[in-house]
Amino acid sequence: MTDLRTPLRIAGLSAWLLVLTTTPTLADEPVPALAPRPAVAVRGIYGGVPSRILDGGETLDDYGINAVWIGSDGATAEVVAGLKAKAPGVRVFAEFNTMHQAGYLADHPDAAPVGPDGLRAPAPDDWQGVCPTHPGYRRERMAAFRKTLAGAPIDGIWLDYHHAHASWEQAEPYLPDTCFCRNCLDAFARETGASVDGPTPEVSRRLLGEDRAKWVAWRCGVFTDWVREFRAIVDEVRPEALLGTFHCPWTDEERDGALRDKLAIDLKAQAAYLDVFSIMPYHARFGHANDSAWISRQTAWLGRFLDVRGEPGERLKIWPIVQVADWGEAVRAEDVSAVVDHGTRPPSTGVMILHWSGVGSDPAKVRAIGEAYRAIRP
Ligand SMILES: [Zn+2]
Repeated sequence: MTDLRTPLRIAGLSAWLLVLTTTPTLADEPVPALAPRPAVAVRGIYGGVPSRILDGGETLDDYGINAVWIGSDGATAEVVAGLKAKAPGVRVFAEFNTMHQAGYLADHPDAAPVGPDGLRAPAPDDWQGVCPTHPGYRRERMAAFRKTLAGAPIDGIWLDYHHAHASWEQAEPYLPDTCFCRNCLDAFARETGASVDGPTPEVSRRLLGEDRAKWVAWRCGVFTDWVREFRAIVDEVRPEALLGTFHCPWTDEERDGALRDKLAIDLKAQAAYLDVFSIMPYHARFGHANDSAWISRQTAWLGRFLDVRGEPGERLKIWPIVQVADWGEAVRAEDVSAVVDHGTRPPSTGVMILHWSGVGSDPAKVRAIGEAYRAIRP
């Protein structure tokens, strides 16, 4: 919304631009009152059971909330059933950690990602990933995924951290090249016919150089194949559940194509197996604290990229997770309606707030979330 201000600084303004200065849609002015958005079916809270609301004698419906995302470890039958009993009609989704189960490395150091030099790659900003082709790790994660789905009456499960060893959730990401372990190199050679002969520093130079396109495509394929297997488990164990993913909000061209080249995320290929894309446009955290419209711009790009319009009957859905908790930069309570506004513009058909544990004790923000959600409720 700050965009409208720029032309006003240009000399020789036409009269209609001056008219814009009096509208309430400019920065630092109240955003237009939110109105019902029938296309937006989901108004969610991510990151914890909103006990403070439920235990205070209020209902989630009082705040317009109709969906809750909780960590898969906490998504037991008891917790999910208890939440649904207290909040009839609410949908409960589990968040599932795919590639960031760092504790696994304590007993399996061979599952640590390897850098181009052939040595264990340092954890960027302490963000520890795991080798995507380590057979034991994959088996462990698939078993945990199956257990979550089988164990509780959840309405869906969302993949989280489904990307390569990299610390991207900040304004300036740290994106090392991995994984050049023997497992990965051998699998790459087997599946593409490329040569991986020679010392790892030499091989990695080739894979990041002349064989880069082949290497990137293969790595994306590995991560997509995890999604294929997750889908198969959902279809087998709880077919009515949705499969979603929380994913990096960059376009395919931003940061020199890092979405594929570095993070190994092929959105179009994964779309074959997913129901919902929860893009993560954390505007304040990612350097857009004063530009909440960045949220809807990134979401609009995703819609064009995946051919999702936010219309009834579409198989694929886009439900952004938007930042309301302070993280990196603060988000003010008075910004919440703009954040919800941009998070629920087409092609979005649902939204969730990051994150309950960060906003639940802030009455002004909780009130603002309730006001925004009730306003867009059809
Ligand atoms: Zn590896």
